[in-house]
Amino acid sequence: MSVRVRYAPSPTGSPHVGNVRTAIYNWLFAKKEGGHFLVRLEDTDRSPERYVPEGIFDIENSLRFLGAIPDAWWITGGPDAPYVQSQRLPTYQEAAERLISEGKAYRCYCSKERLDTMRAEQQARGVPSGYDRHCRNTERAEALRQKRLAEEGKEPTSVVRLAMPLDGVTILHDVVRGDISYENKLQDDQVLLKSDGFPTYFLAAAVDDHASGITHIIRGDDWLSSAPKLVQVFVALGWEPPKFVHPPLIVGPDGKKLSKRHGATQFSWFMEQGYLPEALFNFLVLLGWSAGSENRELFSVPELVERFNLEGMTQHPAVFDYDKLKWMNGQYIRKSEPGRIIGMCLPYLRKAGLIPEAPAPDAKDEVKETYRKEVLDYARRVIPLEIERMKVLSEVTELVGFFFKDLSFPEGYDPKAVTKWMGMAHIKPLLTFEIEQFGALTEWTPETIEQVVRAAAEKLDVKFAEVIHPTRVAATGQTVGPGLFETLWALGKERTLKRLTSVLEKV
Ligand code: GLU
Ligand code: ZN
Repeated sequence: MSVRVRYAPSPTGSPHVGNVRTAIYNWLFAKKEGGHFLVRLEDTDRSPERYVPEGIFDIENSLRFLGAIPDAWWITGGPDAPYVQSQRLPTYQEAAERLISEGKAYRCYCSKERLDTMRAEQQARGVPSGYDRHCRNTERAEALRQKRLAEEGKEPTSVVRLAMPLDGVTILHDVVRGDISYENKLQDDQVLLKSDGFPTYFLAAAVDDHASGITHIIRGDDWLSSAPKLVQVFVALGWEPPKFVHPPLIVGPDGKKLSKRHGATQFSWFMEQGYLPEALFNFLVLLGWSAGSENRELFSVPELVERFNLEGMTQHPAVFDYDKLKWMNGQYIRKSEPGRIIGMCLPYLRKAGLIPEAPAPDAKDEVKETYRKEVLDYARRVIPLEIERMKVLSEVTELVGFFFKDLSFPEGYDPKAVTKWMGMAHIKPLLTFEIEQFGALTEWTPETIEQVVRAAAEKLDVKFAEVIHPTRVAATGQTVGPGLFETLWALGKERTLKRLTSVLEKV
């Protein structure tokens, strides 16, 4: 039997990184096994925080970003379409009717007031709360219906509940956790169909998993405790439940469930910060899955497909280490083609106002040419100098900002750097010398620049460091940055001279 898996997100906003990990595991497992990966939208909970229509795009974007493209989903359709649960209401209603006619589910007419009173009493008595199965007795249910009909003057609303077996145990076969058994009598008579005709998660998931022939349910750890109810819905419907796979919980460094307290948890945040898809993919997979004994952490997506197996899933909670993710991202930035990284950095520079927007498609050729030369060629020259130090792409604005800013002394200069280096006795002769010598260079290369700087130290009879640092500060406004000669080369002769001159005029 070939593997069929599903990722079943609810549109609640940008997906939590844990949900994205679930999607990746499903995708990997399907790829590894030559199986089928479908994605369906579980949008039957219409409460405002569980139903955010734009969230649908966030789900789509996160999958596209990672390249974890489903074999079937609401974008493309597929054999079990529609993949949106709110479009399948009649299917769930039929299943509920069938269960009622077979005596495996029943209509519950309990009013909100009755349920509230019941809960309050249970609390007062200190017993676990849960539905008291009042309407499971058909006569009592009918009496309640008649009473409400008389009071309300119209057919009262009802929900459909599962008649949970009252004895025995439900065994959950979980590939990661092993077999877990649950006492049936402790399980609630779960609502399957709400009074508005919408199914609850349990009914909709069982019906859809069955319709799609799902073989493995790989999903977040938070669903483990309710899994026996889902199994019982399958059993009631006369279907074999799929195998379950609950990867471990993702926790913060303090061991508590990962949440906003620890840092960002929405996938879109990581996309916006400039984490590369392959880094996020790699990092998330290793969060709860181990590739084997070797001490290796960087795996390409094809390597992960090759190695993925459910046995590698770990049981203990996985710590989401933000620093490690950053480190990993830096590794991937440096593995990548510089051209790709440069292209990905441009939007950050635009957003920070460091470079102008690209000319419109119908702009004049000369406008486009100027943009290419002055903006793009310049970016192509300066960004690679900082790739070595970059951990997330959004850092590019900090790292290369000084190349693009209109530096004119002392605006934009780091005051500490100015105090430390611009007050030296030899600053004026140094700048004068450099401006003259740089100006005379016919070839502007890191080597010719270095010759001038070395000659300055010799001429002024000062230490090399006493030339290097002030020159860097004068040209960049700061004390840190890539190698000085490459920096000046990337800045270009014109900008370098302009900056040094502006300092010389004012020191
Ligand atoms: N709709 C559920 C969620 O949002 C999916 C649960 C499942 O995969 O069974 O996480
Ligand atoms: Zn009831």
